Amino acid sequence: MQSSSAYGGEVFDMAFRQFEAVANHLDIPTDERQRIFLPKRAVVVSCPIHRDDGSTAVFQGYRVQHHLTLGPTKGGTRFAANVDVGEVAALAVWMSWKCALAGLPYGGAKGGVTVDPHTLSPREMEALSRRYMQEMIPFVGPHIDVMAPDMGTNEQVMAWFMDTYSMYQGKTVSEIVTGKPVETGGTLGRREATGRGVAYLVGQAMKKINLSHSGATAIIQGYGNVGSIAALTLASQGVRIIGVSDHTAAFYDPKGLDVGALERHVRERRVLRGFSNEMTIDPADLLLQKCDVLVPAATERVIGSENVSKLQCRILAEGANGPTTPEADEILDQRRDEIFVIPDILCNAGGVIVSYFEWVQGLQQFFWSEREVMDRLYQALQRSYDQVLGRAKRDNISHRNAALAIGVETVMRAKATRGLFP
Ligand code: NAD
Repeated sequence: MQSSSAYGGEVFDMAFRQFEAVANHLDIPTDERQRIFLPKRAVVVSCPIHRDDGSTAVFQGYRVQHHLTLGPTKGGTRFAANVDVGEVAALAVWMSWKCALAGLPYGGAKGGVTVDPHTLSPREMEALSRRYMQEMIPFVGPHIDVMAPDMGTNEQVMAWFMDTYSMYQGKTVSEIVTGKPVETGGTLGRREATGRGVAYLVGQAMKKINLSHSGATAIIQGYGNVGSIAALTLASQGVRIIGVSDHTAAFYDPKGLDVGALERHVRERRVLRGFSNEMTIDPADLLLQKCDVLVPAATERVIGSENVSKLQCRILAEGANGPTTPEADEILDQRRDEIFVIPDILCNAGGVIVSYFEWVQGLQQFFWSEREVMDRLYQALQRSYDQVLGRAKRDNISHRNAALAIGVETVMRAKATRGLFP
């Protein structure tokens, strides 16, 4: 099967290569593969806004809906300078396998706007968010496609999306997005869900390889929603956070960083830059330092053939989507006894699982306590974790291939049962 020319780029190619490896493992007939892998729809929009200086700027936006077999599509919206349709399509494909692995009634989707959000004023950010949602109205809906935050977007952006959609409907439709602020119909625990989920699974992996939290060390790449909550949660469990980085700075101290002080700094300044004049480290070197837990929680393809052999962690917990290239995966496979990989579609699934809880609560207008949300989240993650480890052992394959195999198989079976229309 060829990867489609409509979706180029190395990230889409990576999603395709991962799928091909798993399709070979599952013996999926060649003529069935495109039907499972290729995205169903891709929407490209131009979003014009007035800049603060009075000029007009146009930003390109995307939404890719991967498959419609199991229910509405679901996925985040990314605002980043390097977003393109191939990357968005790859993220949508990964969302499908992630939702299927977690047993959620969704296909995967993803959206994005090619913009560096740090170059926008708050007013411009609101204008772009609202215009992007307005352009997407014909293609989304609470039972069609439900958006959520991702890199460069947050609860506030979701509130603007929800408000814009609702204004056009003439009524409040809070279920159109998840990851909203609690006061606008969001769920307790969603903001923390992905990072806490990462920390929960790290705890399970530590048990498996006989590591205890106290005395263990962690390095976190990316200090946004996922990375900062993972760091705070692990630190509260006794893990020493010895390194952190974001797109502005990287800090390393083997004695341990003060995560409370980091938190206060980022709350005030939004970035890590300026936290300290000491403890700085080359961001690329940070990943290679000896630690028990390495959490890439920023962007794709940060672990590749050039650095994978030099990793010194015991657990690689993939908070980000697609942080490890297929070439690096081959090496990690040879290092299975040294490095316990928690693959992205398992490791960061806490976000979409609690998004599902938020959607269900919104549809029913019946809201749960934070304890209920968290208990159900950890149950769901535990089930997926057990399935992945069981499958990896049974088939003698990597954790990534086991997770992907379960996800792909679930979608494939649903398609087979529904049949091919007409
Ligand atoms: P965010 O925008 O809140 O934070 C991203 C962080 O990464 C920022 O601190 C940014 O400075 C940093 N960063 C960007 N490029 C970097 C680089 N080259 N090196 C180091 N740091 C860099 O985004 P987020 O929501 O935390 O998402 C992070 C990752 O987690 C993404 O891959 C996203 O797809 C994935 N993810 C997020 C969620 C969620 O619920 N937010 C759920 C599942 C997966």
